[in-house]
Amino acid sequence: MNQKIISTIVIVGGGTAGWMAAASLAKILKNKYTIRLIESDEISTVGVGESTIPMISRFNTVLGINEDEFMRETKATFKLGIEFVDWGHIGERYMHGFGKFGQDLWTVDFYQYWLKMYQAGKAPDLEHYSINRMAARAHKFMRPPADMPNSPLSEINYAFHLDAGLYARYLRKYSEALGVQRTEGKVVDVQLRALDGHVDAVLMENGERIAGDLFIDCSGFRALLIEGALKTGFDDWSDFLPCDRAWAVPCESTEELPPYTRATARPAGWQWRIGLQHRTGNGHVYSSQHMSDDEAASILMGSLDGKALAEPRMLRFKAGKRKQVWNKNVVAVGLASGFLEPLESTSIHLIQSTVGRLVTFFPDAGFNQADIDEFNRQADFEVERIRDFLILHYRATRRTDSPFWERCRTMPVPATLERKMALWQAHGRLVRDDNELFAEDGWLQVLHGQGIGAGGYHPLVDLLGEDEVAAYLEQIAGVVNKCVQVMPTHKEFIGAVVAAGSARK
Ligand code: FAD
Repeated sequence: MNQKIISTIVIVGGGTAGWMAAASLAKILKNKYTIRLIESDEISTVGVGESTIPMISRFNTVLGINEDEFMRETKATFKLGIEFVDWGHIGERYMHGFGKFGQDLWTVDFYQYWLKMYQAGKAPDLEHYSINRMAARAHKFMRPPADMPNSPLSEINYAFHLDAGLYARYLRKYSEALGVQRTEGKVVDVQLRALDGHVDAVLMENGERIAGDLFIDCSGFRALLIEGALKTGFDDWSDFLPCDRAWAVPCESTEELPPYTRATARPAGWQWRIGLQHRTGNGHVYSSQHMSDDEAASILMGSLDGKALAEPRMLRFKAGKRKQVWNKNVVAVGLASGFLEPLESTSIHLIQSTVGRLVTFFPDAGFNQADIDEFNRQADFEVERIRDFLILHYRATRRTDSPFWERCRTMPVPATLERKMALWQAHGRLVRDDNELFAEDGWLQVLHGQGIGAGGYHPLVDLLGEDEVAAYLEQIAGVVNKCVQVMPTHKEFIGAVVAAGSARK
């Protein structure tokens, strides 16, 4: 059978989504397709989105990026997890660290042994069995050494904090070197084909007409093609995730340079702190139904670690997703595809996974509907499970101190989340549905960290004697502790990465 291939891909938007899509497609498609990217200097990018999850390393690997160079160019720091302050109850804190806990034993997961001993008051908190969490607490960091496969050090799992503007600039340089053609200017109209309603071309303010076969909508919250032109529709999830605004402001860096993002719960939302090499990014995400804009700004400005470096900026959003991320010949990537608040730093990951999925289902000129349907089914599954995990942070609170938290604590949640919480509360079981993004260790940390107790532990744990289990746990905690002691501080490690770059110049 003769398949007619497409030839021109048009990406509308040059924020993180546009340039990530351009860079990866240029690399993977090896110059066989014309890739054009349109961005407007007059329409600024969202300017936030600086905390990532470990999967971004795979993106860097696909691109063949040198990690040290990437860190210097984007003023990045390392991230071992997210610290949640005041979420379960005011005065409490826990971390959602990346990476695994302990070592599995026999057929039962590690955490089941820990649960039994913890419930009996015979084991310390979960974090003692995680290299990521213990290192983060001590502000230490190193990459996993390749020559120590049996050490907890080999299990260090990290992501990055990066400067979003510098990241887009870095990827632009990369993409243009691989032949991506950039057009500066504003899209003012979208032309549809009479035959099938596919997008035929976009019209620029200067009268230029840019035609294409496949269009990637990276125009941010404007969603120019997927919504503006194709009227795809939106599933609104704001009943579950009521925060709809954020103030964002950078401030001077602290001396400490913590290797984790901090998310501090506030009376009607939460505040992020992301430490970069040259500044700290801050933002206050809140529900406008529960707090005024002025009060939200004043909470943010009153709790910065250093001097503010700009005026705060307000961003408005609605939680939810496009009804079809791929509609006709348009694939929405980034904010154009929908939005989940940045509580677990998942948006940049969703850009990466959407582009990866597009490569898997890459179309020919026929745009097979079965492929598009499967792409959308997988996209929905991924984002709905992330949504559930985010809702968990709100629903699993014990706070009663404000109408916002009272609402979150008592709100109905999707059945998929209800089922998982019930399994945990009944018998301490955690299940991962297919390949959903957050695995058992993530759920464990949030449920336990926010004080949602497990109703038991796995019966097979009792096949081992209590002394044996205690010795096993003690040995793991001891090794983790020793490993953290030998690690350099995060600041020292970053210093070496930066210095290596200066030495090369
Ligand atoms: P944008 O950055 O808005 O880019 C849109 C582009 O489209 C721009 O280049 C603009 O010029 C162009 N454009 C628009 N209209 C036109 C037009 N008519 N003609 C030509 N060009 C046009 N994600 C994370 O992973 N981690 C985080 O910590 C995180 N924090 C966030 C905090 C907040 C408050 C918000 C709102 C988002 C956060 N995100 C985070 C999400 C992240 O910022 C985005 O996923 C990411 O920046 C991608 O944005 P984008 O490229 O889709 O859109």
